[in-house]
Amino acid sequence: MTTSALPPKLQWIADELRNLEDSGLYVHIRTIESPQDAWVVVDGKKVLNFCSNNYLGLANHPRLREAAKRAIDQYGIGPAAVRTIAGTMTLHRQLERRLAAFKGAEDAITFQSGFNANLGTIPALVGRGDVIFSDELNHASIIDGCRLSRAQIIRYNHIDVDDLRAKLAEHRHQYRRALVVTDGVFSMDGDIAPLDKIYEVVKEYDAILMVDDAHGEGVLGRGGRGIVDHFGLHGKVDIEVGTLSKAFGVVGGVVAGNATIVEWLRQRGRPFLFSSAMTVPDVAAAIEAVNILEESTELVDRLWANARYFKEGMKALGFDTGQSVTPITPIMLGEAKLAQEFSRRLFDAGVFAMAIGYPTVPRGKARIRVMISAMHTRDDLDFALDAFAQVGRALGVIA
Ligand SMILES: *Cc1c(COP(=O)(O)O)cnc(C)c1O
Repeated sequence: MTTSALPPKLQWIADELRNLEDSGLYVHIRTIESPQDAWVVVDGKKVLNFCSNNYLGLANHPRLREAAKRAIDQYGIGPAAVRTIAGTMTLHRQLERRLAAFKGAEDAITFQSGFNANLGTIPALVGRGDVIFSDELNHASIIDGCRLSRAQIIRYNHIDVDDLRAKLAEHRHQYRRALVVTDGVFSMDGDIAPLDKIYEVVKEYDAILMVDDAHGEGVLGRGGRGIVDHFGLHGKVDIEVGTLSKAFGVVGGVVAGNATIVEWLRQRGRPFLFSSAMTVPDVAAAIEAVNILEESTELVDRLWANARYFKEGMKALGFDTGQSVTPITPIMLGEAKLAQEFSRRLFDAGVFAMAIGYPTVPRGKARIRVMISAMHTRDDLDFALDAFAQVGRALGVIA
């Protein structure tokens, strides 16, 4: 931890940082010294990358690199303004049309990040006098978007459709508009929102339905078309938020849906109106990611095959892989200290996998979270299974 002397009025910041460190909640940020590939160099050591959201290996894909370089030669780097003034380039509209077509939506709008997409979208849809029903485990950017909107926020139990229905029945009538919002894939457990059932309930209560599919895009649905495609809910989910920073391997956010709603977001989405757009290489690389996904399901298929292979191997070793139905694979360990020690020993054995504990997950539910990718080979996965077996036996987690 780096600290520097502070004037008395700011001394509390140093105190808080020390508190974090003392309670084991200080985040030690590792620096990656190589491209985001199956193996990465961390602290001078080459380790198997089980941490990234680079589900399809696009973050350092030769075609994305080439697309970004070509676009730089044609259009330069920066958008030079916010989208509504002079920052909308041919490429931005091209990406939005391609994403809409990929997802089977009428139109799409991009933001600088998935986080910004949520901050921009929720307050454009609901405000004072309205109500939001939000899954209790929704992502921080949904929570912040809800708060910014000034609507009443009612949390329902995680993926619990009966609880959602009961809360809609109790509260919906007291408010003008209602929004039901959920993550598509929940990133800590790898479970999925039951969007088909949520849709039925939302319809009964005349609420707007919004899903944030950050971990589902490029992963779920036909050829990675996302959770709406997975459930066949085209035209039924009102707002589909996504990110270009995970499976797409770049950076940026997207909102897809009805063309009128998208037009409204161009008029009222504050991060769209008041913050400059994605850069030229970002946009060109994201378009190339759509090209790759539309040409073939090979990467998505390999991702799922890898996920199945690794999960089955871990279960055969006796590990508890939780509730996951996606390539996100939690290895449930219980105590945060054990998870941290497990992660440290894995790192020594050449596997880079994060320990996750309270407050990101509930107390007593600490885990190692493994992010499987299409870029991993069978040899990589076997190497990891061996490392997990060794460390698991040494720490008494498995027999
Ligand atoms: C990662 C994530 C985001 C943030 O996406 P960025 O593009 O990295 O800002 C938003 N929502 C969910 C559910 C996420 O998992």
